[in-house]
Amino acid sequence: MASARGIGNNGAAVERPQIRPKAEGWQQKLGPDGRPALQFAEPKRGKPPVHLADLSVAEREKAVVDLGLPKFRAKQLSTHYFTHHTSDPAQMTDLPAAGRGELVAGILPPLLTEVRRLRTDNGDTIKFLWKLHDGALVESVLMRYPGRITLCVSSQAGCGMNCPFCATGQAGLTRNMSAAEIVDQVVRANAAIAAGELGGKKRGETTPERVSNIVFMGMGEPLANYNRLMSAVRTMVAPQPTGLGMSARNVTISTVGLVPAIRKLADEGLPVTFALSLHAPDDALRDELIPVNSRWKVDEALDAAREYFEKTGRRVSIEYALIKDMNDHAWRADLLAEKLNERGRGWVHVNPIPLNPTPGSIWTSSEPAVMREFVRRIDDAGIPTTLRDTRGKEIDGACGQLAATDA
Ligand code: SAH
Repeated sequence: MASARGIGNNGAAVERPQIRPKAEGWQQKLGPDGRPALQFAEPKRGKPPVHLADLSVAEREKAVVDLGLPKFRAKQLSTHYFTHHTSDPAQMTDLPAAGRGELVAGILPPLLTEVRRLRTDNGDTIKFLWKLHDGALVESVLMRYPGRITLCVSSQAGCGMNCPFCATGQAGLTRNMSAAEIVDQVVRANAAIAAGELGGKKRGETTPERVSNIVFMGMGEPLANYNRLMSAVRTMVAPQPTGLGMSARNVTISTVGLVPAIRKLADEGLPVTFALSLHAPDDALRDELIPVNSRWKVDEALDAAREYFEKTGRRVSIEYALIKDMNDHAWRADLLAEKLNERGRGWVHVNPIPLNPTPGSIWTSSEPAVMREFVRRIDDAGIPTTLRDTRGKEIDGACGQLAATDA
């Protein structure tokens, strides 16, 4: 086992071991080249039904006209869905009773069936397990914070990126989610909030009682499902009743680093927040930790992140799960700071997060003193660094824990 110099709990310099990433308790799929397999193309499966939230305004009107109704009915349906978060014909009394059921079934077909819901003790975090039309399972996690409500959404059933420390990748990619399946997670969360089901509200608090922030940190690699992701994001930020009327700045897209897609995203003219899951500043380790690093190296991913900042003016965020004796060495903090500062100042902040346990993994989170030291070094180099708090661990709803089984 290789060693690396570091700082021990007592602050003295000590030799720190270097653990190599290795799947434990499950078999990581390998490609023909013997490296961890990457899945970009989805297996063939039936498509989910087309839903209002998949369509442009003109297409929605056409769909309504095709069902024999005047096109203004499309706007009424959109208001029911996006503003009142309902798909229940009984509540749509402004629509003619005759044929209402068929109209709603045709335009707002059910997409997500709730299988199970887990709540934390104080109820401020809820994990939803949803079944899609073909039985595929996905999860979303709803979290109340002071002044905001965040929903962590899935963009794919499963994931093809095969990161050995993340539970989602262990079963591979089942399929891409449709734009409406992505959006419906938000609508269903808004319905739960409106029904008073999300706890933790402080007395007198003026928190908006709907989802204010979206993070694409649920299941899947959002940039591997690019067109549907963008369609969903455009619907999230379109004003009501065309969409959900959310602020693009409050939508965070997180990626393992699909460089051409990052470039494309930067050119969309949408000020969404961009996050890069880096987890190692050196290719030697990142090649093993993030299999897609075999396509796009650390420097290429960082260059693309920097370009994102230049084109959008949005400060980007670097995610870094701290894994004991694997990627938490002081020299890696210094190398990360150096690589970020090489590319300019004020364009980036770093979000380390203690590793969350996943089934079968022998890896553990870094020691608190090591985490503090890691943060301090990057911070001292002039890069704002905040240890991310992790929510929902007790309900397996934290980052990297979403595996969506109904066992
Ligand atoms: N595929 C995207 C989005 C989903 S993961 C991405 O990788 O960015 C969201 C975040 O959770 C990523 O930063 C991911 O690296 C991190 N993560 C995955 N497994 C984790 C674990 N076991 N503990 C802590 N964070 C984890």
